[in-house]
Amino acid sequence: MERIAVKFGGSSVADGTQIKKVKAIVEADPRRRIVVVSAPGKRHAGDPKLTDLLYLCQDMATLATAIDEPFALIRSRFAEIICDLRLSDRVLGEIDDFRAELTVGVTRDYAASRGEYFSARLIAEFLGGEFVDPAEDIIIRANGTIDQDSYRTLGERFRQRDGFYVMAGFYGRDRSGQVKTFSRGGSDISGAIAARAAGAILYENWTDTSGILMADPRIVKDPQTIAEISFREIREMAYMGASVFHDEAILPVREAAIPIRIKNTNRPGDPGTLITGKLSDSTIVTTEIAGIAGRSDFSMICLEKSLMNKEVGFAHRLLGIFREHGVSFEQCPSSIDSISVIVENAQLQGLDEVILDDIRRQLQPDSLFIEKNLALVAVVGEGMVRTVGIAAKIFEALKKAKVNVRVINQGASEMNIIIGVAAIDYERAVRALYSAFVEKS
Ligand code: ASP
Repeated sequence: MERIAVKFGGSSVADGTQIKKVKAIVEADPRRRIVVVSAPGKRHAGDPKLTDLLYLCQDMATLATAIDEPFALIRSRFAEIICDLRLSDRVLGEIDDFRAELTVGVTRDYAASRGEYFSARLIAEFLGGEFVDPAEDIIIRANGTIDQDSYRTLGERFRQRDGFYVMAGFYGRDRSGQVKTFSRGGSDISGAIAARAAGAILYENWTDTSGILMADPRIVKDPQTIAEISFREIREMAYMGASVFHDEAILPVREAAIPIRIKNTNRPGDPGTLITGKLSDSTIVTTEIAGIAGRSDFSMICLEKSLMNKEVGFAHRLLGIFREHGVSFEQCPSSIDSISVIVENAQLQGLDEVILDDIRRQLQPDSLFIEKNLALVAVVGEGMVRTVGIAAKIFEALKKAKVNVRVINQGASEMNIIIGVAAIDYERAVRALYSAFVEKS
């Protein structure tokens, strides 16, 4: 029997009403046999996420401060769910035991993991599924990557093809057996691991939006949803700041060629976004670009030196200075006598003066300056490889919007064109590109 792994995010399991929607979705397709859940998220703007409350309790307990207030919020969230869904209060007893553990002292990861643990226990009971504790099978290495053996052991746990399993997201264990969490939002990764371990034909990621948008909705009003996007495109979009789902969640399913569908728990009829290894012919024919993403938190160090092109190893020495300071670079556009290094502001963190000094000393440039407040905008799409005139369209749109282009970079893959503009022009540039490619006439 073919199986689908489904993951429900925090807003999809925020309360009893949402969890009833989860039940309806799971029961609507008998292939949905592997369910992965987050901890209860926000019910409305201003509502705390359960994971945040757990971190808070752990911090307070470490400082020997009374945790009564935040803990009462955690307990009442679960108590309400239990009451709404008419579940047994067995888990509530465990939550009280956990409070005692917290005051004695537990690790931060263990405390945070209990949101998903209790959530999965309750949802397993409500859906009539077998609870799976990921700490038993998912081994997370010190650098955050997954031990490959995890797929095998978890796969064995999911071995019964007609079995129905509910696994907690967000955590596993380290090599020594201690509970270890992924980074925030990491239940997406757990869902991807479960999909791969189960040999699922599809990984459905249920959230509160009807898919991935072609541009940032804070900048472009009501941007279109992307119907289909490739793994390569999504990687570029996520890297350039598009809020997709956890970017580390792509790898486990991509390696196993399992497509992902992003769906909306509140509007299950919406088609959502399909992320796939190979775009369908209709997408290839009809779409010029997948989307527009960008970030406005970069700086560019620019230097000029006559005859730089003749100096063997010049770029190597320049980049070596960044390496010595532990700063990674994003782009390195160059011409005959000039070269620039673009870095994320977060990477620079007060190191700009030292780096400039080192460049002056070691490379004696004719001129050297740093341009802060640079934004990078990426127009992403595999269709660009085949389409003539995309670059012309981009620059025409930017010209019309009176945006001065500082940097242009097209990767060899021809899958994206990255344009550097002053941060102040960033939103105007995104809007101009969106209207040129999407709103068209
Ligand atoms: N509950 C965790 C968080 O808030 C993990 C997740 O929801 O994916 O980050």
